[in-house]
Amino acid sequence: MSLSIIGRSIAESVTLKLNETAAILRAKGEPVIHLGIGEPKSKAPLDAIIAAASLLNTGEIRYTPADGIPALKQAIIRYTGDMYGRIVSPENVIASGGAKQAIMVALQAILNPQDEVIFPAPYWVSYPEMVKLCGAIPVPVLPEDGSFYPRLQDIERACGSNTKAIIINSPNNPTGVVYSEQFTGEIVEFCEKRGIYLIMDDIYHRLIFNGKKPVNCYNFLKGSIDDSKLILINGVSKQYAMTGFRIGWAVANKKLITCMTNIQSHQTSGPSVVLQAAAVGAINGIQSGVTNLCITLQNNTNVMMDQLNSFEGVRATRPDGTFYCFVDFSHYNKDSSKLAYFLLDKVRVITVPGKEFGLDGYLRLSTCGSIKDITQGIERIKWALDPNSPNELFIGDRKLVRDWL
Ligand code: PMP
Repeated sequence: MSLSIIGRSIAESVTLKLNETAAILRAKGEPVIHLGIGEPKSKAPLDAIIAAASLLNTGEIRYTPADGIPALKQAIIRYTGDMYGRIVSPENVIASGGAKQAIMVALQAILNPQDEVIFPAPYWVSYPEMVKLCGAIPVPVLPEDGSFYPRLQDIERACGSNTKAIIINSPNNPTGVVYSEQFTGEIVEFCEKRGIYLIMDDIYHRLIFNGKKPVNCYNFLKGSIDDSKLILINGVSKQYAMTGFRIGWAVANKKLITCMTNIQSHQTSGPSVVLQAAAVGAINGIQSGVTNLCITLQNNTNVMMDQLNSFEGVRATRPDGTFYCFVDFSHYNKDSSKLAYFLLDKVRVITVPGKEFGLDGYLRLSTCGSIKDITQGIERIKWALDPNSPNELFIGDRKLVRDWL
């Protein structure tokens, strides 16, 4: 079979694969704890369900404009005004099939083959593959000081004549850290000065803990949005627990949005009208679900951090937001894929190898599950790795005996 060069270069989504593995094992009755999951467990907002159900009840489910229905664009405009203090026009907005498609279409609109796209590591697993899908070259940049906080000087060093765009994701998947005002300001200014596109992936910007405020990239923009190459990405998946609804969006200059709309019109004709209606319901509806989710995640993160702090041999940076902890397990195994498969095999705990995010030796642990999942999950990992733990572990009435340490 002859497959395209680009097609062959794309790896499968490890995170989606892990969800599949968890489902298969659970269906077989295995006591799996899924600490790899990247979606909240709470229910979608009632306003979203009612809006989608009302539309379904009409039985008239049609094509929509490729860039989204007017009501969704209006909701996104209001959201951008409320959250970012910028009033944009409908021509500055495109709704897509998830933030993932919004980023993908943006990249397709701006990249030529061999262009380079910089993003700090550790990074969201899809960035390199999305860049490669455009025939362009991903350039991950690890902060030289070994922290999870990117520095302008490291990015500047990676920047060359082929650099077309930079992607910034804060609060960050996988580390959970929030980049500083100073860094955000520097990067906005740097991209403006160099004429580089800046994709701000703000998908987690409302899931921040301890009263911390998200950083608003528009505060540092000198000109208008239409004069800028700043592309703001957001969506309903994380904040409203609506991952399966597949609605995200981009806000950017009109010319770029027109180009993205043209691309999307031939790709998918735009997202499903039912799901767009649901997104309107969520964005315009009661927002208490977002606050509640934040409180739950903060509580879960505290429990996870307490567990990890009592786990000798691992190092964890406290997340400021999201639902991830990115934990250094290199003391036990420097190969994170091997370690993740070992933990799945021995104690049925699913984690995501740091290698997938551009930093080996780490595992990404999710706080989306219950407190029981978190405490028992970490307990099982500890038992599997720490020679000081007792030789036996009970999972339900199944007795495990450790014979590998
Ligand atoms: N950006 C980041 C950093 C993410 O973690 C995700 C989802 N895992 C997305 C974008 C895509 O979100 P969506 O479900 O809206 O496509």
